[in-house]
Amino acid sequence: MKPIVSIILTSYNKPNSIVKAIESVIKQTYTHWELFIMDDNSNEETVKIISSYLNDPRIHYFNSQIKENERYKSTRYATLINEAILKTKGKYISYLTDDNIYLPNRLKVMVNFLAQRKNVDVVYSEQRVIYFDQNGKCVKEHIRKAQGVQYRAAGRVDHCSVMHTRKIADLVYKKYGNYWNDDPQYWLNGDAAFWNRLNELQPFHPIPQILDVAWKFPESFQRLNANVPKNIPNGTLVRGLSNEIYLIDQQKRRLISNEMLQKLNYKIERIVKIPDPFLFKYEEGTPIDENIFLEPEKIPNQRLIKAKDSPSIYLIQNNKKYHIKNINVFKQYHFKVDDIVILEEDMISKIPDSNQTIDSVNNTKSILPDGVLFKCNSQFYLAFNNRLHSIEKDVINRLKLSVNDAIVMHPSLLSNYDKGEPFSWVKKSLFVK
Ligand code: UDP
Ligand code: MG
Repeated sequence: MKPIVSIILTSYNKPNSIVKAIESVIKQTYTHWELFIMDDNSNEETVKIISSYLNDPRIHYFNSQIKENERYKSTRYATLINEAILKTKGKYISYLTDDNIYLPNRLKVMVNFLAQRKNVDVVYSEQRVIYFDQNGKCVKEHIRKAQGVQYRAAGRVDHCSVMHTRKIADLVYKKYGNYWNDDPQYWLNGDAAFWNRLNELQPFHPIPQILDVAWKFPESFQRLNANVPKNIPNGTLVRGLSNEIYLIDQQKRRLISNEMLQKLNYKIERIVKIPDPFLFKYEEGTPIDENIFLEPEKIPNQRLIKAKDSPSIYLIQNNKKYHIKNINVFKQYHFKVDDIVILEEDMISKIPDSNQTIDSVNNTKSILPDGVLFKCNSQFYLAFNNRLHSIEKDVINRLKLSVNDAIVMHPSLLSNYDKGEPFSWVKKSLFVK
């Protein structure tokens, strides 16, 4: 009797590449497998494509039906893998993602290797990694080598290049009460977190042969996550994998239509793509639609407004309008005339008035405009609620802000302002435990 390999394929909104992943399993020269497609409530297009493969009795499909606002609460693929392992019956377990393909001999080579070595429970192989740009063009390629027996596989061995026995997975379960650690802090390296658990029991044995190909698309979690700070600054336009665009306003996400983007003079090129789990972590706020012209207090913050026949320009922040003292102050903060939204006089009067004026940055009594970038002693800061939040250059670029727009603040002024929580991105590494 040939042993069964249980393959767990996690899926989320990659209709084009998941087809190739599934086909690569069907084309395996070793045919004693079962495939668990664990779909994390993907869009219709993806689900439809998966359905066309469900006639094969070896293929099983589960849909998590996860709600968007629950997505960020665990490392989703780890949660799905934990559910899947409980359903599998194979002697061996192997993982696949929707942006990876197995080469035809993968299962055969790995099963042979494990069958011949009774004391080995974990194997890994080499991987070809191909990077694609927005236009689907291959821009870079490299090989992840299988270098020796790995006592610390975390960070060195990919999710899709491993096969292990059920026996060792059950030992992990005994120790931890689950298989993969699905704590959301491991979104970036959930595989590494599990490899650490396996490595406590056994090293990974190498098969020095390329047995899978990983495709890195611009929409991959790793790439979308790069340099996105934990808290996204108010005033940032964001979108996830779907076409819907949201404005982060008072730390809520407000859906905004293309029409309103235009009417409120937002720049399309300022939209920042972020991973879905981070987007949906934000509570949904009032949508930005035509109604805001009837209820001007719902006009988003950090907009410049002005009545047609009046020279006064205001900045909205904290849902109030702040008068900008004069044109020099307007210029000093690098505000742009093109960004001003012209409104009816009576609409402007309906927006609550702040009794504070936005004055020159050199006037220490002045209130700082929210969302404006400052530079002082070669450090950058974003202003919110009259506090300065430090921010790194990489994060500034990622948020489509421009370092060239930063307002130079004299060092003597810096101590006038409290410092807020930095907008920073921290890449956690599990390379060494
Ligand atoms: N994934 C998921 N739920 C989500 C987002 C992603 O199950 O909300 C799965 C996805 O289908 C893939 C794995 O998590 O199998 C890793 O995602 P991705 O390829 O985007 O990330 P990266 O390769 O950059 O780590
Ligand atoms: Mg991936």
